[in-house]
Amino acid sequence: MQKEDFDKLKYVWEKWRDVSGRAVRQQFIEYANLTNQGALVNELKDGGELWLRPYESENFQEQIAKLYDQLSPFYQELHAYMTRYKFFFTLAVLACVGHISVESAKKTYPLRDLSVDELKAYKDTYSEKYRSEVNKQAEAEWAFQTNITDYNSEVQVNSSLELSAWLKQEWVSSISQFNLSILDVPEHADLRRWYASVEVLGIPALDDTDLAKWSQIITSMTSLYGSARICPFDNQDCNPNTDPTWSLEPDLENIFLNSMQKEDFDKLKYVWEKWRDVSGRAVRQQFIEYANLTNQGALVNELKDGGELWLRPYESENFQEQIAKLYDQLSPFYQELHAYVRYKLSQHYGADKVSPTGPIPAHILGNMWAQGWQAIFPIVSEFNSSSLDVTGAMVEQGYTVKKMFETSDNFFTGLGLESLDTAALDFYGDSMLEKPADREVVCHASAWDFMKKNKNPGDFRIKMCTSVDMDDLITIHHEMGHIQYYMQYVEQNPLFREGANPGFHEAIGDTLALSVATPVHLKKIGLLDPNFELDENSQLGFLLRMAMEKVAFLPFGYIMDLYRWKVFNGSIATENLNQEWWNLRETYQGVQSPVPRTEMDFDPGAKYHVVNDVPYIRYFVAHVLQFDFHQTLCELAGQFNPSKPDEKPLHECDIDGDKTNAGAKLKVLLQAGSSKHWAETLEGLTGHSEMTVDPLLNYFKPLRDYLKQQIALHNIPVGWSSAASESEVVPIVVGAIIATIAVATLIAFVFVRRRKARENRA
Ligand SMILES: [Zn+2]
Repeated sequence: MQKEDFDKLKYVWEKWRDVSGRAVRQQFIEYANLTNQGALVNELKDGGELWLRPYESENFQEQIAKLYDQLSPFYQELHAYMTRYKFFFTLAVLACVGHISVESAKKTYPLRDLSVDELKAYKDTYSEKYRSEVNKQAEAEWAFQTNITDYNSEVQVNSSLELSAWLKQEWVSSISQFNLSILDVPEHADLRRWYASVEVLGIPALDDTDLAKWSQIITSMTSLYGSARICPFDNQDCNPNTDPTWSLEPDLENIFLNSMQKEDFDKLKYVWEKWRDVSGRAVRQQFIEYANLTNQGALVNELKDGGELWLRPYESENFQEQIAKLYDQLSPFYQELHAYVRYKLSQHYGADKVSPTGPIPAHILGNMWAQGWQAIFPIVSEFNSSSLDVTGAMVEQGYTVKKMFETSDNFFTGLGLESLDTAALDFYGDSMLEKPADREVVCHASAWDFMKKNKNPGDFRIKMCTSVDMDDLITIHHEMGHIQYYMQYVEQNPLFREGANPGFHEAIGDTLALSVATPVHLKKIGLLDPNFELDENSQLGFLLRMAMEKVAFLPFGYIMDLYRWKVFNGSIATENLNQEWWNLRETYQGVQSPVPRTEMDFDPGAKYHVVNDVPYIRYFVAHVLQFDFHQTLCELAGQFNPSKPDEKPLHECDIDGDKTNAGAKLKVLLQAGSSKHWAETLEGLTGHSEMTVDPLLNYFKPLRDYLKQQIALHNIPVGWSSAASESEVVPIVVGAIIATIAVATLIAFVFVRRRKARENRA
């Protein structure tokens, strides 16, 4: 306690907290949640109530508070006397400040004044280094995803930590120190925009321990998801180590695609439930930790929470409200589609299985997550449009995977855009276009920009386990849209080699696929009989199938992030993670779980993007934008007139071959990358700077008229009442009582034992 001990004490005080408290922060949160859960199943309010039981007093906390109030004046007198030794205060204050400076990625003042030329020079050096660092990381990531081994996984994790370390070092030693106010004039707007793109460090701002933990949790959740297996329906008690098992791809996906007979109801339910047992349920605790770390990453960047971090690429103060507004405008159409599909499903499975007025059981919509319903088109449709599926023709004509990619490439070059042959180094040699037989790979389709150079030909690749069918032909166009974007903005600054916002990137390939899927185009490329006539009947069938894919997706595309935004901002508590997920599923999608759920489950984690830290709102945005782009390009190609929408219907438009109008305008949008605000880029193509749902509604107008007419004709109820049916409530209540008794007995047993075994020191 000598004056010169001040710093030593401070050092010891702080370091002890670094190695003790800091190391257990996440574990403590988890422990507190579990303690609360333990209290809840005992019908106690929370862990505090559980802890106070030994005092056997209703108002024990008040008794303590009263005692403390009586002692407090004495303590304050003692404290006042001690404060004469001012150093106590200084000590405490300094220790706190020291702690903050370690944890926070805030700017430190005073800032360094640089000239505009110096700021430009830094930008150039940083950009080139950034490109080569990203290139290194992409190589390691590719090696891992196309050949999953422990070694490749380790190399990949290390290389992504290296990239983070470099980003952090540049941020701490340079970017955060610069005084950028010199750029706040119109003539330097571009340079200012560049600095804006690097100003927020993001997740790499976490300290090294937390950052490594954050990466490891995601890797762990993803590999659990990837390796999850269930026992086959006809061998439900199988031994997973020795017997054959089912994996998500291809076994479970095929079951959802092909099981739509009445007698498949129970098999689908089995598969639906078991997948959630082995995937989501297994990662619930890890997800909680991951969400906390993501929030922490946001906080040290002075952002409110993980949701704000995720929304940064959209550069709008009110982006969530924009999305909510778009969704409100689309919701009536979704409800009509939902009503019609439920009506057909109720007829098919019987009203005892599918209530004509309630939410639809989530397992009978032809998809593990009920996110796209096109697979059950045959049991919903009264139309004859099976001939629009050209899979048979592709097989007959001997289509290969390579020919499918060439077909897509031809569509792009027909619009005057770049070709794989000239703008990519060795696309077919470098890509992985089929599932290899000799090793484990991540099959989830993706398109890659290796950032190898600043001009074409560049290193662009696709990873996809392609099969020769129409669905994959459309998916190829989606992925090729990403590749085309890469090739078009290759000469932009490396930091602007991004979509105008992430939704733009997802929308490009889909936009072109809207032309490719038209009967006119399929005839043109010889996949549809030249004598095929698109009458009103097959036209409605075509639109219904499209709506079951694109419109059915809208609420799912919205709630995936609406849910995670709420988790990040704390409005969904960890003890209600699953219940709140189902509240959103029911409110927006009008679907319900086919089996009772509990807070042991974590059904959002049964979806890839949740366990792999991929934001999802981009897909919702893309579903709105692609119809906007399609309509604009069709107007440019002279194939659609918004003032006479019935003359040439939007869904029949094929922009193929229009280099001078549609192609040229699209090229401008693509080449801009993210160098401008997306609203400006959007306006450049469409003439409006806000997202709009009108083109989507134009496209589906004939179908919507038909649905309204059917709803009126058959008196089909629209919307859904939320009450669970009685047959489900009874087992839930009985089950809950049994579970409570069992857990209470177990806990009582544990507590008795612990009380005897431990009388610990304070
Ligand atoms: Zn994509």
